[in-house]
Amino acid sequence: MAETTTKTGTGIAARAEDLHREYGRGAADVHALRGVSVALAAGTFTAVMGPSGSGKTTLLHCLAGMDRPTRGSVWWGGTEISRLPERRLAELRRDRVGFVFQAFNLMPAMTVAQNVELPGRLAGKRPDRDRVTVALDRVGLTGRARHRPGQLSGGQQQRVAIARALVSRPEVLFADEPTGALDRTTGHEILALLRAGVDRDGRTCVMVTHDPVAAGYADRVLLLADGLVVDELVRPSAAQVGERLSRLGG
Ligand code: ADP
Ligand code: MG
Repeated sequence: MAETTTKTGTGIAARAEDLHREYGRGAADVHALRGVSVALAAGTFTAVMGPSGSGKTTLLHCLAGMDRPTRGSVWWGGTEISRLPERRLAELRRDRVGFVFQAFNLMPAMTVAQNVELPGRLAGKRPDRDRVTVALDRVGLTGRARHRPGQLSGGQQQRVAIARALVSRPEVLFADEPTGALDRTTGHEILALLRAGVDRDGRTCVMVTHDPVAAGYADRVLLLADGLVVDELVRPSAAQVGERLSRLGG
C-alpha cells in the first residue's frame, strides 16, 4: 500500500492525464471524454458537476479504475493504473479505492453486515468482524448489522453502501450522485459523512453531483461540458456553483 505514496511524495492521491474515452466506432461513435487532465490532492474533497451526458460518470469510472480510457493515463500515487493487467488492477482497486453509487447497489437478501463484508469475501478474505463493526459505527449504523436493506430507510441504505466502500480503508472514495435518490435532509447527512471522512480521516473524496448545495461541501468543484473540464471553482458558495452551472445549461 505504501508503495506509491513513498514514490511520489507529491500529495496527489490520483490524477488523470489527457483522458479520452470513446464508445463505439464509426458513425455511432460517442466521445465521452475529450482530453481531461485532473489531479486530486490527497485529503481533499472534489465535486464534479456538469450537464447530463457531459462525461461525469465516465470520468469517475476511469479515475476509479472501473473503466479504461481509450487514450491518456490514470495514476494512483506513482502507479499508472491504466497500464495494469486486469487482475492486478482488481487487487489494487480493492485495496485503494471505494465506490458509492446513486442507487446504493446493496444485495437485498443479505444482512447489512454481509453486504459490508461482501467485497472482502469476493476477494477470498476472511471477514474481519471488528472492521465491519467499526465501519458501521462510523456511518452511524451501530446495532443495524443484522437488518436487511429493505428494513432500512434510503439514507440508511446509502450509509451501508458507504460502510461497504470504507471497510477496506481506501485512500480515495468515489461517489456518483450519492444523494441523488435521497431527500434533502438525508442527503446532507450523507454529505456530512463524506466531509468528515476527509477532515477526520484524511481521505480523498470525489463526488459527482447535480446539486449546487451538495457541491458546497467540497473544497473544489470541477465543471464538465461535452467531455472537457471547462471550469474550476475553489470553495465556492452554492450560489456561485448554481450560477456557473446555469451558464453551462446544466
Ligand atoms: P454524465 O455522467 O455526465 O451524465 P456519462 O459519462 O454517463 O455522462 O456519459 C457521457 C457520454 O457517453 C454520453 O453521451 C453517454 O450517452 C455516453 N456513454 C456513456 N456510457 C456509454 C456506453 N457504455 N456506451 C455508449 N455510450 C456511452
Ligand atoms: Mg452520470
